[in-house]
This record gives sequence, structure tokens and C-alpha cells, in this order.
Amino acid sequence: MKKIIVQKFGGTSVGSPERIKAVADICKKTIQREACELVVVVSAMGHTTDELCELMSQITQSPVPREYDMLLSSGEQVSTSLLSMALSSVGLDGHSMLGWQAGIKTSGVHRKAKIENVDTSYISSILSKGKIPVVAGFQGYAENKEVTTLGRSGSDTSAVALAVALGAERCDIYTDVDAVHTTDPRIVKNTGSLKLITYDEMLELASLGARVLHPRSVEIARNYNMPMRVRSSWKPENEGTLVVKNIDGRNETMIEGQKSVRGVALDKKHARLSILGVPDEPGIAYKIFGQLASKGISIDIIIQCASQDGIAELDFTVDLDDADKAQTELEKIAKEINAQSTILDKSIVKVSAVGAGMIDQPGVAAKMFKALADKKINIHMISTSEIRISCIVDEKDGELAVQTIHDAFNLDTVTE
Ligand code: ADP
Ligand code: ASP
Ligand code: MG
Repeated sequence: MKKIIVQKFGGTSVGSPERIKAVADICKKTIQREACELVVVVSAMGHTTDELCELMSQITQSPVPREYDMLLSSGEQVSTSLLSMALSSVGLDGHSMLGWQAGIKTSGVHRKAKIENVDTSYISSILSKGKIPVVAGFQGYAENKEVTTLGRSGSDTSAVALAVALGAERCDIYTDVDAVHTTDPRIVKNTGSLKLITYDEMLELASLGARVLHPRSVEIARNYNMPMRVRSSWKPENEGTLVVKNIDGRNETMIEGQKSVRGVALDKKHARLSILGVPDEPGIAYKIFGQLASKGISIDIIIQCASQDGIAELDFTVDLDDADKAQTELEKIAKEINAQSTILDKSIVKVSAVGAGMIDQPGVAAKMFKALADKKINIHMISTSEIRISCIVDEKDGELAVQTIHDAFNLDTVTE
């Protein structure tokens, strides 16, 4: 049996007829070079999904979730069929398929469905005929024949899930940058470029706003130890970045001498909520966060200020999309617990430094805070993990904070 490689092409990579033809060429060259069977996953062309959202907003601001999924999943149907046709033009036999045909079974939660399992029998039968399955990313099906979508940018997750289910050798994510960089090259001009990155580092960066990979795709790759490569559709001969479990000579037990910080991410999709004048009693935090959780609102950073005269203040952050819902809920809670008032601030962002090497290098946080202070950037909240330091700052300072941290840790010199 030949090895299988899964290749995923993002929206810009299939953004025009010329780009789709270029993708067909990449597929042909991969088969020649790797002597492999190929499974291709595509996103919708260019800004199609955004345009569908815009169209929807002219009809309704609160779409029925199943209809939202039906509408948004249509973009990928166009690109799968066009790419299959382009494959014929280069002498290959493409076979387009939607999520349900590819056997991508998901939970029934529309708009953010999770992949439960993949029945690869149809894909395998197509492969055994010497054809190339071209699968619509971002979509699947749930019980009762419902079409579901996986959340925006979910095609990366479709690709990795298929790679795992098919026992593929690797999953290549072709995009519009040539590698994972030390930060978003759209924000910082002199970024370094990473040849290798660990799943843990990549998962942090992706979850913290580096949109180059969908965080759930990295999570699946890590759980199943699936090698992933991020590479450019414009320079397909470049190897890009390999995302792996351990980096030779730099695994979990051998990290000395490595850069403490390897990447910086900016997440603009945050909002801060505060509840003031909260009675400092047992059970209050449970009451507030239990009630928010029961409404499906996830909380990120939480800070409780030291109480004075039995009165405390709690600040926390939520996803920007949940901000208004969280504020409405928090006002109800404030009345129930006799808190004084609530504040919603949408003009904040989260900037984070990530690196597996910071585990046992003291002073990383201090260096980051000093660099921000030197630029007069005020930090509102801080949170850390073993391999990450995040600060909430004003939205207006976000990009400067990224550049400042990037400079402080000399990330422009990173080449490995
Ligand atoms: P696709 O449509 O191919 O899925 P995305 O727009 O989702 O592409 O992701 C690619 C974009 O991710 C790049 O254009 C870049 O601006 C952004 N990005 C953010 N952080 C990083 C990073 N650390 N390295 C590379 N790209 C990044
Ligand atoms: N087309 C979808 C989106 O724009 C999924 C993807 O591109 O991964 O979010
Ligand atoms: Mg993407």
C-alpha cells in the first residue's frame, strides 16, 4: 500500500481560477515526488465565507444555526468541484466530495461542531480507483442528516482529522505564508521563521490568536502524533515549518541554551468584564462563574482584587463574540448578589509570548514587562502557563506590544 499524504489549501490558495490551477500543479508534483496517494482538503475561495456572512446579515442578525451551517458550508462545494476539474486538466482524476460523503461525522452543535469520527470507506474506495478525493473542509454531518460546520477556519481541523483517520504519513497545510513565523508577518516586518515547532508551542500560539493554524487541528495532531507541515502555495518547494512532538536536542528534558520565547501572538477577540462592590463571601465566585458557564460562556483570565471592608472586585475576560451575552448575564447576577455595578470593556487585546524554553529560565516575565513599561504600555491583566505569558493591554497598544516583545527577545534572529 502506498503512503497517503493529506494536503489542505486555504482560501487565498484557491482564491482565483489561476490559483486553483496552481494548486492542481502542486498536487501533481507531490504525487511525482513522494510516490504517494493524495487526499486534498480545500477551503472556500478567497473571502467567500465572509461574503456569505454579509449576505446573511442582510436577511437576519440571528440566523437559525442549521441554516447558518447550510449557507456557510456552500463555499467549499464550489472550490472542491473546481479543483477536481483543474486536476483533470493536468491529467489527474479528481473526485470532489462534501463532508458527509467523506464520512466526517460530528456532534450536532451547529456552527461549532466537533468531529466525532471519520468513516473513511468512501474515500478509500475512491483512492483504490487511482483517483484523488478532494474534500470540502470546515463541514461534516450530524445525526438526522444535519449539515454542520466546525467553526471559522475549521478546514485545518478537517484535514488533520482525515489524516489521522486515514493513517496518513503527514498533513500539509498550504497557506499564504511560507512558514510559521515568530509572529504575524502582517504586524511585524522583521519576523524570524521557524523550521520546527512543538505541538505544545503551536497549540499555545494558535489558541492565542496566531490564526495560521486552527487550534483544534493542532490538538488533534498532538493527540495522534500526526506530523503537520505549514507551507506556502506560492513557494511549494519550500519545506516551511514542521510541527512535531519533540525537537531533536530540544525535547522536554533538554531545553537549555534555547530561546526562551519563540513566538508572539495577538488576540483581538477579547473583552473584559468587571463586577464591582462584590460581597467577599464563600460561594460568590462559584455563583458568578457557574451561572456564566451554564449559559455556555467560557472565561479566560480571572483576577480578584484583594477585598477591603468585605467588598471585592472581580475582573475577567471572555471571547468578544460572547461579550454582550456575558454582560447581560452579569447584570442579572450583580442584582442577585447585591454587587454595586458591572463594566464591559471591548477595547482590550491579549498579547502573549510563547516558548517551551521559558519553563526553567528565570526573568522571562520581568524582561517582557520591562520592555512594555519602557514603551509606556499599561498592562491590565496577566496570566501565565509553563510555556506562555499573556498580558491584557489596550487595543490601541496591541500591535506596538507585539513589536516590542518581538524586539526584546531578538526574535528577528530566529531561523530554526
Ligand atoms: P488560510 O486561508 O490559508 O487558512 P489564514 O489566513 O487562516 O490562511 O492563516 C494565514 C495567516 O496567518 C497569514 O497570512 C498571517 O497573517 C497569519 N499569521 C498569524 N500569526 C502567524 C505566525 N506566527 N506565522 C505565520 N502566519 C501568521
Ligand atoms: N471557509 C471557512 C472560513 O472561512 C473555513 C476555512 O477557511 O477554514 O472560516
Ligand atoms: Mg486558516
